[in-house]
Amino acid sequence: MSVNNEYRNFPMVPRVVFGKGSFNQLTSILDLKRKKQAPFIFIVDDIFDQPGSIADRIELKYNDKLIYASSKEEPKTTQVDVLVKNILSEFSELPSGIIGIGGGSIMDLAKAVSLMLTNEGSAADYQGWDLIKTKSIYHVGIPTISGTGAEVSRTCVLSGPVRKLGINSDYTTFDQVVLDPLLLDGVSKNQWFYTGMDCFIHCVESLEGTFLNDFSQSYGEKAYELCLEVYLEDNNLTVEEKNGKLMMASWHGGMSIAYSQVGVAHAMSYGLGFVLGTKHGIGNCIVFNYLEDYYPEGVAIFKKMVKKHQIDIPKGICSNLSDEQMETMINVALSLEPLWENALGKDWKKIMTREKVRAMYLKM
Ligand code: NAD
Ligand code: ZN
Repeated sequence: MSVNNEYRNFPMVPRVVFGKGSFNQLTSILDLKRKKQAPFIFIVDDIFDQPGSIADRIELKYNDKLIYASSKEEPKTTQVDVLVKNILSEFSELPSGIIGIGGGSIMDLAKAVSLMLTNEGSAADYQGWDLIKTKSIYHVGIPTISGTGAEVSRTCVLSGPVRKLGINSDYTTFDQVVLDPLLLDGVSKNQWFYTGMDCFIHCVESLEGTFLNDFSQSYGEKAYELCLEVYLEDNNLTVEEKNGKLMMASWHGGMSIAYSQVGVAHAMSYGLGFVLGTKHGIGNCIVFNYLEDYYPEGVAIFKKMVKKHQIDIPKGICSNLSDEQMETMINVALSLEPLWENALGKDWKKIMTREKVRAMYLKM
């Protein structure tokens, strides 16, 4: 058999702690990783900038610093650059580590900051695949909402000057993740649904895709099953139990796409995000609602879940687009070639024309 690099050798999170209240172990986990008195920098969703929130439970030692960041908009390369510049000018040494506490937006921001502290230039220079040359500093992800799989992935998605694209690298993956289902308390119902559906859609797109393999299938099927338990089945699970299952669904969904790919919903949702600023979770839901031709079973189940939880999926968001905006949206969607190839096969360009994409957007 010839030796080649046909199969990707991708990294996984080397350490994870799971369980109700596991957040309380954070200090003892970090103590083992502190470099003398070099600070830990905590990047925390500003929704927790209030008394009684988990931010109160973060133990700051020496020069440790807590920075609140907004997740109203998805993270930007410019935002990463400013954070890195401020950290480098405030401290005379590299931090002991970066800890991101929040959803996909904040975890991606933390990943990007940890990478850019050891790599020169702007985060925008590294949007793409394997452009990072130097190992990041130690970084920890702590999700407070579940579904994106950002806690396990080797990417951090950023909006840059010319594109929305992740910094995909072997160094992007967290060194440590803390999964505490109690941290999910307080998420609004709509957001719980939108972000959770990101996971459901990861599973459908992975399991229905042409890139499917045993590795992706085993994780994807488990995550799919967990999503049904959380969002569809009538069972006696408590909210706490459902949150634990959702955390594991997110993890497995992320693992599933690591070795396969997402598909039509994600390609089109990226177009919405780039032109209209539509956030990832809700954007995926807006698109998926109209994809029965591509994912009939998945979309039928999705619609049942929408109905069961009485979720509002915005409609008509593309009805007032200018021609230029529509053209850009189509360009962004169609530029994501691996996603279309996974969804429709090698000949996808013959199947998915600009006119078809336009017609789908106009329905949304
Ligand atoms: P998010 O981080 O954007 O947060 C959504 C909302 O939930 C925010 O308003 C936030 O303040 C709120 N929130 C979070 N935790 C809460 C809590 N415990 N209580 C109350 N409110 C809470 O949401 P998301 O859907 O997790 O992340 C979306 C982002 O993830 C996008 O930027 C997307 O590009 C990125 N993403 C990354 C990957 C990856 O592999 N890196 C994969 C998919 C998506
Ligand atoms: Zn996604």
